[in-house]
Amino acid sequence: IAARPAPYLEGLNAAQRAAVETLDGPVLMLAGAGTGKTRALTTRIAHLLVQGRAWPSQILAVTFTNKAAREMKDRIGRLLGESVEGLPWLGTFHSISVKILRRHAELIGNGDLHLKPSFTILDTDDQIRLLKQLIQAENLDEKRWPARQLAHLIDGWKNRCLTPANLPKGEDATFDGWGGRLYQAYQNRLLTLNAVDFGDLLMHCVTLFQAHPDVLKSWQDRFRYILVDEYQDTNVAQYMWLRLLAQAHRNICCVGDDDQSIYGWRGAEVGNILRFEKDFPGAQVIRLEQNYRSTPEILAAASGLIAANAGRLGKTLWTDAESGEKVRLIGHWDGEAEARWIGEEIEAFQGGHRASMGPVSLNDIAILVRASHQMRAFEDRFMTIGLPYRVIGGPRFYERQEIRDAMAYFRLVVSPDDDLAFERIVNTPKRGLGDKAVKTIQSAARNNGVSLLEGARIVVEDKQLGGKGLANLRDFVTGIARWQVDALNSAASHVELAERILDESGYTAMWQNDKSPDAPGRLDNLKELVKALEEFENLQGFLEHVALVMDRDKDEAGEEVSIMTLHGAKGLEFPIVFLPGWEDGLFPNQRAMDENGTKGVEEERRLAYVGLTRAERMATITFAGNRRLYGQWQSAMPSRFIDELPPEHVEVLTPPGLYGGGYGAAMAHAGGAPAAGMQERAARADVYNSPGWKRMQARAAERKTPIPRATVTIDADPAAGFSVGDKV
Ligand code: ATP
Ligand code: MG
Repeated sequence: IAARPAPYLEGLNAAQRAAVETLDGPVLMLAGAGTGKTRALTTRIAHLLVQGRAWPSQILAVTFTNKAAREMKDRIGRLLGESVEGLPWLGTFHSISVKILRRHAELIGNGDLHLKPSFTILDTDDQIRLLKQLIQAENLDEKRWPARQLAHLIDGWKNRCLTPANLPKGEDATFDGWGGRLYQAYQNRLLTLNAVDFGDLLMHCVTLFQAHPDVLKSWQDRFRYILVDEYQDTNVAQYMWLRLLAQAHRNICCVGDDDQSIYGWRGAEVGNILRFEKDFPGAQVIRLEQNYRSTPEILAAASGLIAANAGRLGKTLWTDAESGEKVRLIGHWDGEAEARWIGEEIEAFQGGHRASMGPVSLNDIAILVRASHQMRAFEDRFMTIGLPYRVIGGPRFYERQEIRDAMAYFRLVVSPDDDLAFERIVNTPKRGLGDKAVKTIQSAARNNGVSLLEGARIVVEDKQLGGKGLANLRDFVTGIARWQVDALNSAASHVELAERILDESGYTAMWQNDKSPDAPGRLDNLKELVKALEEFENLQGFLEHVALVMDRDKDEAGEEVSIMTLHGAKGLEFPIVFLPGWEDGLFPNQRAMDENGTKGVEEERRLAYVGLTRAERMATITFAGNRRLYGQWQSAMPSRFIDELPPEHVEVLTPPGLYGGGYGAAMAHAGGAPAAGMQERAARADVYNSPGWKRMQARAAERKTPIPRATVTIDADPAAGFSVGDKV
């Protein structure tokens, strides 16, 4: 009698089982969307544990988001029929790097400057502020040399693991010759502040491993098995990090899909996945071809679209899933109409009015946008009609002013060297400590070579300020000192402490006394913030979490529609997916096209492929003829990606009411005209003669809103998902 496979192996296909059971040596699973890569990776972890190959603490598993990490833990627990408390090293590159760095912070430094284990993680906002100060200090013209541009440059270097010392010749001369020097100044400043930025997390780890072979060895010994999901989106720094850790035992299993590489703009190198066999000779390459996620129609539409990209590895994907509806396509008058229609559709699903779909839960529905600003129209609409939704992956909440202020208080308490936090709150609420007082504090700090907080203490002692300002500064400084003591007392509740900090500092009162209409909302947010703290052991853990900007914590109370960016949706799946805003300029995104030409368009196309392949049973693409951007109406052309969908798998819907009308590509589909790329786009000039377009113009004239014939240009922030800093 043949032995029955372990229950968690049942149901896997042969290729998946090979991926799960080949435990020794390098393994690469290279396969298309929905073929069960993540599932195989998860099962592999379970298998390692069951086989006794490793303790949970000896498995290093890298996922792309914290949400994915949580899901993986849950799933492993289900596979094994018990909860897996362990797996402390299952997380994102950034969250794992933070943990490693905290243990060796002192080894990171430059001359006398060293990191301390309590370092803070700066977000983009702090980073820009710091760079601005450095640019000003050199008397450079900020208009010509914006801090944002420098930040971008530095991020790029960090993604490639280039420290100031090893910048290639030529690159250090960018930014009018100042690039390298400002970079070095910035790194030193970060050390003085006992801070790191997002890019540092990886780069410092790699530097640490390279400079301290004993440290590297201890981590290599610990991590007996390494697993990486979404490998196609690793950048050079992450790649070096992995190679260093895997070099010794070579038990590394990476999974990915070159067609889903969507972070090239952030330094990801799809080449990493193509080079795997060279890096790890003798690697087993496993291909999966059966898609278990989507209907044949969705799969065919997505495959047809991605076929327009050159330079793919190319894959065969098939499914034996039951046939479903075609991919639906519909055009709207403007973004508001688009949001209204999608809202109505969702209500129809919810009410069971789409019999073919059976009962639908709101949790089964997702709206995937190209740029986070598109979310607003949906949020507004859904709030109006009372449709529950959640925005996933955005750092929105933590970006609000009151939240950032409160966090600055917490940061200063946890990390007294954090000058940026000090500057943010020393006069918030108003303490009569204006620019002059701050200058006095700054020079006291500079003269004594100490942090601003320490400088403030000196100013108070030496009575360098007059009157009320001095008394207030004394209160501020003693307050911080008191909270610091409390924060160290592990018996005391950090949640209560947080509340006390906000009360005793006068911050809560500041909003209570504020008569503006948004003050009550801000007070609610502060309450929400304190509530969020409960989930963490201490303030530091919480600050870390926020800095890594993971997914918004959700209390899964009721059913909700999910709204998120396409980038944030990677690896996820939903029965019903709406893909709004398929207009040239918005998607493909104008900036991606301007900056990277064909390569940019191809990355956008992979993003479209990611979007479509999230759908299990129904995908609906929508576009609008007009969009209001920054208060201006702009007309838009349907996305070129719409032309590229195989017409036989697309159904064009006619929107209700007068103003819809599937113009443009939609018309081409309706008329059965073959979609043939650029030529066809030229023919779309016909759009302007279409009845739908004329009606739109008539209506626009009525409203006295001109429709300029510009293409939509959007300053998109596709990174809402990651925020490390989002950078992350
Ligand atoms: P992506 O490229 O989008 O990340 P993926 O390759 O990681 O996709 P998974 O998310 O692992 O794919 O799997 C897609 C869906 O197919 C999941 O719902 C998963 O449970 C299901 N699935 C995977 N393998 C099998 C199988 N052998 N039998 C049945 N269902 C499966
Ligand atoms: Mg996956």
